[in-house]
Amino acid sequence: MQVETKCWSCGKKFVKHVEELSNRDSFQDTCYNCALESLTKGQPPEEGDFNTAGIVSGEMSDDECGLLQEDLRSVDWAACQTDPEDDLDDR
Ligand SMILES: [Zn+2]
Repeated sequence: MQVETKCWSCGKKFVKHVEELSNRDSFQDTCYNCALESLTKGQPPEEGDFNTAGIVSGEMSDDECGLLQEDLRSVDWAACQTDPEDDLDDR
């Protein structure tokens, strides 16, 4: 499932992928950028660092790697993740 959270480091809001709510360590949620920064420590990131940052932050799941690209162009992508059947209930 996905929860909206805030990066403790830079304050950026992002959607985190979690197994279940009870597993959350919300006090140490870290966004992708900050995770990558802490991994590389100012060094140029290596290829594996991008994946690791995605996993550490929880911002990116396997099937959302593509969507993350869209995120760069649109802030609306998170809205697309909501259950489309919610709209049907309004009828
Ligand atoms: Zn951050």
